[in-house]
Amino acid sequence: MNPASCGTPAANPWLAFPVQITGITDETPGVSTYELQLTDAEVARNYRFQPGQFNMLYLPGVGEAAISLSGQSESGDRLRHTVRLAGNVTHSLAGLGVGGRFGLRGPFGTPWPMEECRGRDVVAVAGGLGLAPLRPAIDAILNAPDEYGQLTILYGARTPEHLLFEQVYPDWRQNGAVVNVTVDRSLPGWQGHVGVVPLLVDRMQLPDPENTVFLICGPDVMMKYTVSSALNRGVPAERIWINMERNMNCAVGLCGHCQYGPEFICKDGPVLRYDRVQPMLRVEDL
Ligand SMILES: Cc1cc2nc3c(=O)[nH]c(=O)nc-3n(C[C@H](O)[C@H](O)[C@H](O)COP(=O)(O)OP(=O)(O)OC[C@H]3O[C@@H](n4cnc5c(N)ncnc54)[C@H](O)[C@@H]3O)c2cc1C
Repeated sequence: MNPASCGTPAANPWLAFPVQITGITDETPGVSTYELQLTDAEVARNYRFQPGQFNMLYLPGVGEAAISLSGQSESGDRLRHTVRLAGNVTHSLAGLGVGGRFGLRGPFGTPWPMEECRGRDVVAVAGGLGLAPLRPAIDAILNAPDEYGQLTILYGARTPEHLLFEQVYPDWRQNGAVVNVTVDRSLPGWQGHVGVVPLLVDRMQLPDPENTVFLICGPDVMMKYTVSSALNRGVPAERIWINMERNMNCAVGLCGHCQYGPEFICKDGPVLRYDRVQPMLRVEDL
């Protein structure tokens, strides 16, 4: 079996596949989406990922960073990663430009529970860059509308300037999704909601809470209050899934950097069912 054939890490998970940057889209201040071509034809043919998984981007001489897959090109042969400038790896990546080459290993991690979403209403809730790991799940649902119930997307960002993927919201709405957006701080011309994301959960239509799946990704505090709002609306804890991003190094459960109670976020997560991690949610990042 080819290492990258089924959304699981390579047989040798330390092996980085060569990639070349084929496109860069500036999204919001400090955030860009990189379109990457796997340059080995066989790896490119066989590489598969599932919504919610991530790759380790390897910049030789600099280091590695875990970055979620935010999608793929229509042709399917190019991977998208949406990256915020943080430290060494992300700044070096930004310095490469179109045509730049580096390495990628993966995919790693647990995916969003697409099987459980089938036949149910789905609420995707994101804060800031958290919309990036949710985008492949949103695309999967909108590409197979008969297989899922109503999709609602609730999204919050610091200001209107920080709204990620704003150009696709009209398409999402046209394809049947309810899209509600809020900002912490308004700017001149903004007509939408102002306030935190959990308020959108408090106010949304939720006709069948017991049969609704919540997929949540964002800062810890946002996830905590969003979960609490969902529980208050009658959504069962086992229908709530959160994406826990923690500092990690190896991505294969060996180094222990991302250990979280009995779980290793890199291999048991990053997508975890809320009731499994609820007792540990007060633990700070290492
Ligand atoms: C499963 C998973 C998925 C992820 N997905 C994404 C994603 O899709 N997109 C994304 O952008 N990130 C994502 N991250 C986060 C990303 O892995 C980290 O931000 C990573 O540390 C970036 O690597 P770096 O070498 O650029 O930064 P590092 O050098 O590792 O810096 C790490 C921290 O130090 C701070 N820091 C470093 N240098 C400076 C400096 N000079 N001044 C001030 N602060 C500094 C950064 O703010 C950051 O908080 C994900 C993480 C995980 C675990």
